[in-house]
Amino acid sequence: MANFSSALKITDVNDFIAPSQDCVVLDQSKASLKLADTDDTEIGQVQIQSKSIPSRENNEPVKISLHDCLACSGCVTTAETILLEHQSIDQFKNKLGDKNCRVVVSISLQTLASISDARDIGVAEVGRKLSWILRQHGAFAVFDLSIASEIALLENCLEFERRLRNGEKIPMMASACPGWICYVEKSQPHLIPYISSVKSPQGIMGTLVKQFWSSEINTSPQGIFHVAIMPCYDKKLESVREELMVGNVPETDCVLTTGELEKWLDDINVNLSETKEESFDVFFYDASDLEDLMDCDNASICWPSTLTGDDDPVGSGGYLSHLARYMSLSHSLGRIPLKQGRNADIAECQLDNGQNHINFAIINGFRNIQGLVRKIKLGKCHYHFVEVMACPSGCVNGGGQLPVETGRTEALGRMEKSVHAAKLRGSDIVKQCDLIYNRWIRDMPGSMTSVSKFTTSLKERKGISVADW
Ligand code: SF4
Ligand code: SF4
Repeated sequence: MANFSSALKITDVNDFIAPSQDCVVLDQSKASLKLADTDDTEIGQVQIQSKSIPSRENNEPVKISLHDCLACSGCVTTAETILLEHQSIDQFKNKLGDKNCRVVVSISLQTLASISDARDIGVAEVGRKLSWILRQHGAFAVFDLSIASEIALLENCLEFERRLRNGEKIPMMASACPGWICYVEKSQPHLIPYISSVKSPQGIMGTLVKQFWSSEINTSPQGIFHVAIMPCYDKKLESVREELMVGNVPETDCVLTTGELEKWLDDINVNLSETKEESFDVFFYDASDLEDLMDCDNASICWPSTLTGDDDPVGSGGYLSHLARYMSLSHSLGRIPLKQGRNADIAECQLDNGQNHINFAIINGFRNIQGLVRKIKLGKCHYHFVEVMACPSGCVNGGGQLPVETGRTEALGRMEKSVHAAKLRGSDIVKQCDLIYNRWIRDMPGSMTSVSKFTTSLKERKGISVADW
């Protein structure tokens, strides 16, 4: 068996399903799915070791033929194990000890929220403690990935506005979830024109670190080893996309999940509650005053973290919340508050000027995603924007988060609140983003230069394997 990080539990099968997910095939058709009759995994079968799927009476793992598999990326398949081996705690440790490279770590808010909940330490405190520990163990810099989220959300708003203005494909659907993107590229390529072209926060952070900040610190992109700490394994797959490389160098070299980070902390015998604290690094230390964004009054830019409202769901980044508030403010549209749809993983809201409506939705989990895909195919989708996330309950419930033994719903609610509270402290983040556009992009958000740096492209990918990505 491959030498995995032990945070990822793989037994004698080569496929693993994230704890937050049931196989979408089983979800969709538990009754009609043909299960394999033998106990041995045969060629062409994906064998799933699941905590949550009730299988045959004797509780054996369920087998699904590759014909049935939708390639939703909900589980880790044989080809993906290669990636997991390369992006592991061992590789991370080796790089921390390598004097010839500068290890730069970017930490997602969902990771901070998960650790905060498990350890009962505030989110901001967790961030400062991790910064201190990582630097003590050799990291050159530790960043809050919220900087990149802010840019992703703003560019997402501007792309949506442009699509409406130019009559481009609607509904626009968020592009930040690699599980969803993998599903579209492999199984529903006709949906590619609907997907936002904006890179995910992880993708944008990689661009900032490797294409811009590297020259500030007189280092080549190859001389930096960029590690992102994220809530799911699928982000490892995203990091090796050829579209997210600078030359032949990945903009994010290694993704570790929250669980893998926790495992590393255990390995080095760190007790978080007893460690010192240090602030995150920032790209610009002279950001005391906002500079004017080019010739434009920067007050006209609706920075996402200045728009977060009390009741906004932001556990997956807040794509719907920020876009709805942005459109409401920029176009003086009244907002009908978010309400639950047919189940807890669908939420909808509407903007209204008395004549026209703009409809927004959050769709989480593959069962709901398949309903959305069907509606689009039938021309019955009335949404203009959809925040689509593969995990039920979104990113706070990602498959790489720390396990929650009891009270899962309450824990997810607490994590959602933590992410929300952290987003409300965004003025420092706004300053950093302002300077990124002013000094590095040297143009406005949504401009050609900005689009060339912060967007990516999708393409149809044939076959079930991700080895050829
Ligand atoms: S990739 Fe998705 S559909 Fe295929 S076996 Fe895994 S969870 Fe099921
Ligand atoms: S919903 Fe979030 S955590 Fe889950 S696969 Fe997508 S990006 Fe990862």
